[in-house]
Amino acid sequence: MVIKNIYIMLGPPGSGKGTQSKLLGKKLGYAYFSTGVLLRDIAREQSELGKKVKGFIDQGIIIPDEMMRNIFRAKVTSLGKVKGLILDGYPRTLGQVGFLDELTAELGGPKTAAVFLEVDKQKLLARLANRKSCAVCHTIYKSDMPEYATGVCSKCGGQLVMRSDDDPAVMEKRFEEYLAKTAPVKEHYESQGLLVHIDGDQPIEKVHQEILKKLETRN
Ligand SMILES: [Zn+2]
Repeated sequence: MVIKNIYIMLGPPGSGKGTQSKLLGKKLGYAYFSTGVLLRDIAREQSELGKKVKGFIDQGIIIPDEMMRNIFRAKVTSLGKVKGLILDGYPRTLGQVGFLDELTAELGGPKTAAVFLEVDKQKLLARLANRKSCAVCHTIYKSDMPEYATGVCSKCGGQLVMRSDDDPAVMEKRFEEYLAKTAPVKEHYESQGLLVHIDGDQPIEKVHQEILKKLETRN
């Protein structure tokens, strides 16, 4: 298996990390996966592993490194022949960084880069405070749209609510938690000269272009 590049996507909740991972994967023809989605899928399986993973998720505990290692390895193996990999949500700990380094060596040493989406916390909170979503079809309405004021979805008639994820206090806590937890991972890649800083406070397409341009110059 010859994987040319591994791109690690880093960025706090609300930074658009998932969206950018998908766009980048599509553009480059690389396999993309989110470990969060992967773990939730496994947790729904009626297997021993599924039950264990569900237990950890329900309790809000980080999956132990050894278990995560096996899950991650199985996933990468199942992808077969791919040109490159885009990782959303992995590695999260220095233990996971160590494993990824090992796996990278096994894969013939693809080039690694970590993309960090920088977003201003105040701008992010302001953006989230200005939107409501339909409880039924999940369409998002910004504060300058008429539906925001009426509180009724124009597509399905559902009620508009502020998602708990979007609650500024909850969001601020998740934002700070993310930065604190991933700081060692970010510093690791920074010290190796593998970190790419991106201004995440731009429209989606602009962020995408900046990521492409900065990654291209590394190859
Ligand atoms: Zn709706």
